[in-house]
Amino acid sequence: PKLANLIKLNTNENPYPPSPRVLAAIQAELGDDAASLRLYPDPNADLLKAAVAGQHDVTPQQVFVGNGSDEVLAHVFMALLKHDKPILFPDITYSFYPVYCGLYGVDYRTVPLADDFSIDPAEYVGQANGGIIFPNPNAPTGRLLALAAIERILQANPDSVVVVDEAYVDFGGETAIGLVNRYDNLLVVHTLSKSRSLAGLRVGFAVGHPALIEALERVKNSFNSYPLDRLAIIAAVAAIADEAYFQQTCAAVIATRDTLTADLSALGFDVLPSAANFIFARHPQRDAAAIAQALRERSIIVRHFKLPRIDQFLRITVGTNGECKALIEALGDILS
Ligand code: PMP
Repeated sequence: PKLANLIKLNTNENPYPPSPRVLAAIQAELGDDAASLRLYPDPNADLLKAAVAGQHDVTPQQVFVGNGSDEVLAHVFMALLKHDKPILFPDITYSFYPVYCGLYGVDYRTVPLADDFSIDPAEYVGQANGGIIFPNPNAPTGRLLALAAIERILQANPDSVVVVDEAYVDFGGETAIGLVNRYDNLLVVHTLSKSRSLAGLRVGFAVGHPALIEALERVKNSFNSYPLDRLAIIAAVAAIADEAYFQQTCAAVIATRDTLTADLSALGFDVLPSAANFIFARHPQRDAAAIAQALRERSIIVRHFKLPRIDQFLRITVGTNGECKALIEALGDILS
């Protein structure tokens, strides 16, 4: 909504600006006359691949980059997950997965989350499949799966590509990228939209065995040779280089998440444990859609999914301390 003073807690953006180095890099690239924008960008974004490889201790041949992780995921579904057998993903997960399956004609079977909304690795053992994908932490639940459980899934499915979508991992999880040299069937997908505050720039990447990356490159080069523009490439490199700023903003989001969780619990909400920059909560006595609507009337937007099992939950992005305080005050008002 185009409202003044909107408090936007519905799409899990970072409440803090990107590293100041991002602006400096963009200004340096543009110079006085933006002349470099005449020229196409590097189709391989080698600078960015080198930065990602350096950050995660892998080779550039193990890195794929794309226009946001949504584009990376789109290529993953087409290049790596289209097989005769259905792929597996949780019944409650990132809403784009079934959309890509529809677009590319990929068969899928959903695997129910446990009653506590966690992923049960045993459900992914002994199930014939054409591939497996899940976010970790999962979205929209925020629940984290331990690396040992991911290894169990990898070991039980040596002939399937296992894609771990780590869009939110920097807010409390441990990345599985450290496992790529041991498991050639693992692909880990990241975004700079969340923990690097660059949703508006559209940068995502994947790390995995060079053969998986090569397959992604072939699909990408048949679709768009230049998915990352000049500004996106240099700004992403600058953001990755500023480790101190990254640590500081992630820590601030995590601290606010803890306060928000305590404040929501005090208002009677059940809050799932979150390792992400959002929380998933329900009020045992009050209808979630009605709460979301009442918040909207107060210019605060949160996410409500009209889906089985989760239609009494709200997904709330962790904003600044001030935004979360305003949310809690509004909820106190609505509930009373
Ligand atoms: N994966 C998950 C689980 C997400 O929630 C999102 C954000 N909506 C994405 C991927 C895509 O993020 P982006 O395209 O901004 O990188």
